[in-house]
Parts: sequence; structure tokens; C-alpha cells
Amino acid sequence: MLSALGERAKPLAGGQTLIPILKLRMDEPSDLVDIGRLPDLRFAEEQAGWVRIGALSPHAWVAKSAVAAAVPIVRDCAGGIADAQVRSRGTIGGSVSAADPNCDWPTLLHALDAEIVCAGPAGERTLPIREFITAAYTTALAVGELVVGVRFRAPEKGSGGAYIAYKKSAAAFPVCSVGVQLTLDGGEVCRDVRIVLGGAGPTARRAEAAEAELRGKTLSDALWARAAEAAVAIAEPTGDVRGTAEYKRSLLRGLLRQAAGVAVRRCANASIEGSHVYA
Ligand SMILES: Cc1cc2nc3c(=O)[nH]c(=O)nc-3n(C[C@H](O)[C@H](O)[C@H](O)COP(=O)(O)OP(=O)(O)OC[C@H]3O[C@@H](n4cnc5c(N)ncnc54)[C@H](O)[C@@H]3O)c2cc1C
Repeated sequence: MLSALGERAKPLAGGQTLIPILKLRMDEPSDLVDIGRLPDLRFAEEQAGWVRIGALSPHAWVAKSAVAAAVPIVRDCAGGIADAQVRSRGTIGGSVSAADPNCDWPTLLHALDAEIVCAGPAGERTLPIREFITAAYTTALAVGELVVGVRFRAPEKGSGGAYIAYKKSAAAFPVCSVGVQLTLDGGEVCRDVRIVLGGAGPTARRAEAAEAELRGKTLSDALWARAAEAAVAIAEPTGDVRGTAEYKRSLLRGLLRQAAGVAVRRCANASIEGSHVYA
């Protein structure tokens, strides 16, 4: 139906981004195609080392899933998005398709090196999230194509992750956020790490220089401090009503240290209800 209606038609999922956009007259689609009740797109499961989440899975539903219990960084993200009303309607597929640079899911999914599964008249294809979100509010979706799910490799034993966003209130988008996914060697040596910054540019930014500071080394406060500086060096936040660029850089530095602390403890199986920080 989307293909037949053409490029000005839009799918409507939870409506938590699209309906406000229509109310503000920021877009004028020719048609809305309600995909909210398509069967089989609400699931969250782990199978053969892959975690898969269906596009129509609402944030609140994902937060309570077995996947979120097994991969706490997912619970951090899903359980902290907006308020209970938005979380119960908004979907992960809608969130990645909207490609808002301040949204939580895109940053989290970059931290997990996730792939986006798309389906349309030409069949199914899977794109790494860094190729799926091409710019702020822009994706590689073709006309008539839908996101049907996301998938990522289940974090291995000895891994721990944390995602922390800073918000002025529950119903506000994050000012900035940080996702850290860490694997230790069983002791205190960092075997692998991914660090991603949200609200630090037009799309989520992977802090590769910061990761290089940590990889293969024994973790310490001094090392995390160096990594935080390397991460902040690549951040390009824009000053806006949420704060100046300098304020956001300082926030990112603090969020990274906080997320790192939680990730390290989760590597040792500590149960920590880490989530967002509110002003
Ligand atoms: C008050 C408020 C506060 C919010 N705070 C936050 C927050 O703190 N953090 C956060 O991350 N988000 C926040 N959001 C956004 C919220 O998470 C949205 O639910 C989410 O961004 C979009 O999901 P949706 O299912 O509602 O999508 P919709 O609004 O239905 O659609 C969004 C866009 O994606 C397209 N689309 C939807 N589903 C698909 C699909 N499967 N395939 C292809 N295209 C699709 C639509 O055509 C539309 O362009 C907030 C929203 C509100 C209203």
C-alpha cells in the first residue's frame, strides 16, 4: 500500500513523533498508513547468539522483556524514554525511522553495533545502523520500505553495558546521552569497548579514539579520565534551548564517567538499576 501511494505517504506506528509533527504542521503527508496492528512485529528474543526486537515493540514492553533483563543496557534505554504514556505507545521501529539525533534508541543501538532489518516490495535487507541513519532525521529507507526489526549480537560473558541520558524532565528528550558497552578479560583489563555519544552531533557519534585509550589496558580512574577527554574531543553538540555547546561537552564528560562505572560493575554481574539522570 505504501508503494502504491508513493513517497509522500507515511507509515504510522505509535504516533508519538509523527502526530506531534502533524500538529505542528512540520510535515504534510498525502496519506497515513496505520501499521500499528500488523501482526508478528512485536517480539524481543535471543536466539543463537543474536538478540532480535520487532519494530512494533513499544518501549515500555521492551523494558519489561526477558531481553531487557538479560541485557541491562537495553532496559536503561527502553525504561527511561519519555514518560509512561509515550513509552506505552512509541515503538523502537518508529524511533530509529525518525532518526532524531536526540532520541535514545539510535544512540543505544550504535553502542551495540546493531543492524536494522528493512522489508519492502523488493524483499528484505539488513543494514548496520551507521549506514541506516545517514544524517539527522534521514534514513536509507526506500519508498514503500518498512523497518521490521533490529538485531545485535548478544553481549558475551564478561561484558557489561550502561546507557545514561540526561533529561530536564521525564517528558523531555535527552540533552545528551552516553552508551558504553565493555568486555573485560575476567579481571580489570579491557578486552573490548564501544563508546557512543548522543546529542553530540547530527547523528550518534562513536568515540573510537576514546575506545583505543582503553582497549588492552588495565582500567583505572586516570585511564577513564583520558578516555572521557578523547570522547569529548570528537563531540560537536550545538548550543540550543537545552544548553550551550560547552555545557553539553561538560555533561558528556560526566555521563561517560558515570556510564563507565555502571558498565564495569555490570561486567562483574552486579545488579544495578542504572538509568537516566533528571535535572
Ligand atoms: C512528549 C514526548 C517525549 C518524548 N521523549 C523521548 C525521549 O526522552 N527519548 C526518545 O528517544 N524519544 C522520545 N520521544 C519520541 C518517542 O520515543 C517516539 O515514540 C518515537 O520516537 C517514535 O516511535 P513511534 O512508534 O511513535 O513512531 P511514529 O510517530 O508513528 O513514526 C515516527 C516516524 O517513523 C516512521 N515510521 C514509524 N514506524 C516505522 C517503521 N516500522 N518503518 C518505517 N518507518 C516508520 C513514521 O512514518 C514517522 O515518519 C518523545 C515523544 C514525545 C511525544
